[in-house]
Amino acid sequence: MDIRGFIETSFLDWDGKISSVIFLPHCNFKCPFCDNGLLVENPETLPEVKLEAIDNFINQRKDFIDGVVITGGEPTIHPWLTDLIKHFKAMDLLVKLDTNGTNPRVLSELLTPNSELIDYIAMDLKAPLNDKYYEATGLKTDLNKIKESIKIIMASGVDYEFRTTVVPTILDEAEIEEMAKSIAGAKKYALQQFVPDHTLDERLRVIAPHPKEKIEKMAALAKKYVPKTIVRGV
Ligand code: SF4
Repeated sequence: MDIRGFIETSFLDWDGKISSVIFLPHCNFKCPFCDNGLLVENPETLPEVKLEAIDNFINQRKDFIDGVVITGGEPTIHPWLTDLIKHFKAMDLLVKLDTNGTNPRVLSELLTPNSELIDYIAMDLKAPLNDKYYEATGLKTDLNKIKESIKIIMASGVDYEFRTTVVPTILDEAEIEEMAKSIAGAKKYALQQFVPDHTLDERLRVIAPHPKEKIEKMAALAKKYVPKTIVRGV
């Protein structure tokens, strides 16, 4: 296993829960707005975090920490992800998984009924499910896999959300509405504020995020299809 980042305690990465956050290296996307460039492109320059050190920290704060958030990078590209999740479940911890939805086969295995491996899953929806997706992810990707992941998650019975970073140069109001339509009936949709500080594509670092009012207007449009649409980071 290869872990390249650890936040000991977070109140932000899992709504309503206190979590420890575990960062896995590499990603199969190159989103221009990604703010984890080193983890995606040069993870070997980051210090490796030993699982034993994570266990020691969590075991000392078991009464305080509800669970772990496994994020990246893209966690599902690692063949040992299931073992890592089982490791934390054996410690009686809740597990949230963040994913970009490119691996429906892995999601299907993890979300098998009664497997009880995942307590919450957050899947990124980067753009409308058309050519715009390639612009938002920096690569030509198989959209059928993204659509399949959406279906698997919505049918899983596990608690979940879809989430979108609202990048001003990539998404407008009509596109947010189209995206909400593609996940109509979902339990939760989160529109997240764009943070330009460390984007993978340096050209985005000078782009101002949308004002709060504009993102709230987008959320109002999305609510027609996903009533529990929220905004984050505004
Ligand atoms: S934003 Fe997420 S999916 Fe996109 S490159 Fe970064 S880690 Fe990968």
